Amino acid sequence: MTTDQNAGEIAGGYGKAIPLRQGQKFRLVNTFGSQVVDTWALNLHDTSEYLSMEQTRRMTRNLFPEVGDILYSNRRTKMLCLEEDTSPGQHDTMVACCDKWLYKHYGCAPGHRNCRDNFLESLFEAGYDAPTAPSPLNLWMNFPISNNRNIDLATPLSKPGDYVILTALMDCIVICSACPMDIQPVNGEDRIPKAVHYSVI
Ligand SMILES: [Zn+2]
Repeated sequence: MTTDQNAGEIAGGYGKAIPLRQGQKFRLVNTFGSQVVDTWALNLHDTSEYLSMEQTRRMTRNLFPEVGDILYSNRRTKMLCLEEDTSPGQHDTMVACCDKWLYKHYGCAPGHRNCRDNFLESLFEAGYDAPTAPSPLNLWMNFPISNNRNIDLATPLSKPGDYVILTALMDCIVICSACPMDIQPVNGEDRIPKAVHYSVI
């Protein structure tokens, strides 16, 4: 873990909140290639405004973002731009983050790490708060749609070292969770959550 405030590691299964000023670029590296990263953004000055997958899908009229796409807030403000993506571009906007109730559904003991708690804990540690976790942009999550209605749970198509760059179009705080899912092969066939790395440039 580096001590540089503008770069660091997000441990597998854990989260991190990173403030961005308008114009800054957030580079997120899928270091080991198969890690899904649930990603949120909140208005740095008013956390009731958040990155909204529902509004973004409507504004872009696409189910999944690609390079050049603007990502919108729940107030339809331009919040982030997907500036670069070296991966095959398979990301998900359809499903909620994993939470303690999903692991309960799978029969796990209480206390299993989960993206919802990572979101809330990371925000709190950074000095912010939110009443609930919005639907995230699930970077590298490979949940393709088939038969016009089925959501398939597949493994990521990304390779080690693939990265995305998100440009902040407003002051915001980005929250990332290296998803702790170890029941379904969402984070690769080995089902082992792994670290990812970020920098602000
Ligand atoms: Zn998760």
